[in-house]
Amino acid sequence: MTGQRDIATLLVQDDLASGPVVPPIHQSSLFTFDDVAQMAATFAGENDRPVYSRGNNPTVRVFEQKMAMLEGGEAARGFASGMAAISASILAFAQSGDRIVCVRHVYPDTYRFMRRLLPRLGIETSFVDGRDLDAMRKALDGAALLYLESPTSVVFETHDIAEQARLAREAGAVSIIDNSWATPVFQRPLALGVDIVVHSASKYVSGHSDTVAGVAIGARERIDRINTLTYPFLGGKLAPFEAWLLLRGLRTLTLRLRRHDESVTRVAGWLQAREEVERVHLPEISNRPGGLSGRAGLFSIELRDGVDPVRFCDALDLFRLGVSWGGHESLCFPMAVGLRQAGEHNSLVDFGVPQQLVRLHVGLEEPDDLMADLDRAFATVNTNIQGSP
Ligand SMILES: *Cc1c(COP(=O)(O)O)cnc(C)c1O
Repeated sequence: MTGQRDIATLLVQDDLASGPVVPPIHQSSLFTFDDVAQMAATFAGENDRPVYSRGNNPTVRVFEQKMAMLEGGEAARGFASGMAAISASILAFAQSGDRIVCVRHVYPDTYRFMRRLLPRLGIETSFVDGRDLDAMRKALDGAALLYLESPTSVVFETHDIAEQARLAREAGAVSIIDNSWATPVFQRPLALGVDIVVHSASKYVSGHSDTVAGVAIGARERIDRINTLTYPFLGGKLAPFEAWLLLRGLRTLTLRLRRHDESVTRVAGWLQAREEVERVHLPEISNRPGGLSGRAGLFSIELRDGVDPVRFCDALDLFRLGVSWGGHESLCFPMAVGLRQAGEHNSLVDFGVPQQLVRLHVGLEEPDDLMADLDRAFATVNTNIQGSP
């Protein structure tokens, strides 16, 4: 059906829905049948009719089919959040007595899930440096699952995903990757040999900071396993209205990501040359087909000693203080605050990130305005340093 069409074309076509150019929101919990024979046929799996919205909902289905098409997978399952997609996918492929291998600097709640909840179910996780393929090969011996993120959260390390996927396959482990940062516009992990792609659709897939959602994509057999083993019982279903918002967001995904790429290249380049900045953590582009081909808006900077990251963030105006990312708006987050976050299993502490790190999301604003904002904040911080006794 999709042929050789470009992803930009696929994104604006909702050709899965007939008639209206925008599919309707099926805001209904259940779907009735004409007669018992039809009901029985549906229950026997002889047709694809929706029954109940914790199972299938037509609006959610359009979103799932579109995500499967974009990532190049056979099937997809929408979820209430990225974490619902991540936890249901991992639990479908790991059981008591199993061991998982995971790259360091994964999303902090993914880390906490592995450290706090999985051990209670008899599942242990070994964390490895994703750049060290030798260490990964050794850790994968006897492991059931390999969990990947590239670029990683917070420090934005890039990994050789194709090689990581190959190591997992050799070891007989299922591989899962979080592709929220790159999206299928900039990275196609299934083409690189990964088994399952998960997204926090709350980020770029939505793109408008107005919904929390998730999705898992892969071969039909693997998504069926999620559909029969974890999804219906954990119950983290995607709501029809959220699915509709996500379809709306997807239509501009290429446009938005191209703009993020252009803006981030300018803003990060400008930051690189600032004397207040020690280092810019920006992912490297890959030349492999399916590999990372562009840069999303999220990256981090390490400020020089003496430049206070908290004061710097407080002095910013267009970059608003907040968690999450992937929307239209620019954001900042001083990692020193994350480092002091209460409770056990803080991946920032356990794997170490510099106190001086500030995460920035370059939104869809005019980059000149963003640089002026950063410039003004640097000036404020510098004045404060010079002005203090
Ligand atoms: C936000 C995020 C998640 C979690 O997604 P939710 O939709 O908030 O549950 C997972 N992975 C990454 C990389 C994220 O940034």
